[in-house]
Amino acid sequence: MELNERADIDTGSIEDGRGSGGGGGIGGLPIGGGGLAGVVVTLIIALVGGYFGINTMGGGGGESTGQPITQCSTGAEQLQQLVCRNGLYVTSIQAYWRDELPQAFGEQYVPAKTHLFEGSVNTACGAADSGVGPFYCPADDKVYIDLSFYQVLSRQLGAPGEFAQPYVLAHEYGHHIQDVLGTEAEMRRRQERDPDSANQESVKLELQADCYAGAWANAAANTTDKDGDKIFTSLTGTDIQEGIQAAGQIGDDTLQQRGGGRVDPEQFTHGTSEQRQHWFRVGYESGDPKQCDTFKAGAVT
Ligand SMILES: [Zn+2]
Repeated sequence: MELNERADIDTGSIEDGRGSGGGGGIGGLPIGGGGLAGVVVTLIIALVGGYFGINTMGGGGGESTGQPITQCSTGAEQLQQLVCRNGLYVTSIQAYWRDELPQAFGEQYVPAKTHLFEGSVNTACGAADSGVGPFYCPADDKVYIDLSFYQVLSRQLGAPGEFAQPYVLAHEYGHHIQDVLGTEAEMRRRQERDPDSANQESVKLELQADCYAGAWANAAANTTDKDGDKIFTSLTGTDIQEGIQAAGQIGDDTLQQRGGGRVDPEQFTHGTSEQRQHWFRVGYESGDPKQCDTFKAGAVT
């Protein structure tokens, strides 16, 4: 995978809250102690739905993830910076949906910001620490990510490939699409009517977000910045495999095994490794987000 050194980041898409001391805990209480972190994790998971399905408990932990996004410009050197690369991924994902959402679903795309944080953050969905991994908050329409999550993904979860990064972001933007289309709100109503179905509904929502990520991956090589410059200059089958590998490493069954526990399908919220890879491929191979109807009867069993 190569990014185009002339491509511009849509800086309006990114809020850089790193190093601002933002977050800081709930009501002035420090976050990060094991017990309290558990409470925070529970809170945010109850509210957002769009969390990534991992709980690394203090993974990341506020390590510095580099220069401010405002210092990114064009040029080969910028492409070495994690934050600048991620700025380009977000630019590509939003460019894709700006075109695709009206075509596929007849809806206007509403841009959503990505908020970068380190350690902990306050959101309209509550406070969270980076142990929950990246997530989308429908109450403020933002994707939240501590970029040190990628180290967790690489070192602890076995997904070291670079393309794992845009896959993660595209999955979270998939939740934004579900918010725009009302899919997420409908799902919540079904969960309320039938609490026994809550986990199965969550799995369908998550697999659809994986499928949307795949649909973006299919078109990523053609996405452009505001000047019409391509964002990616090369994207290969190896890159796509890295995305599929990442999807496999964060399946509920794999994570449960990694956690040393038994595999308990009743606790699944995001789908198995096999399901996550399957739905990413459905999106990637079709390039059509309309094929991502995981809620259709029999689509996910
Ligand atoms: Zn998700």
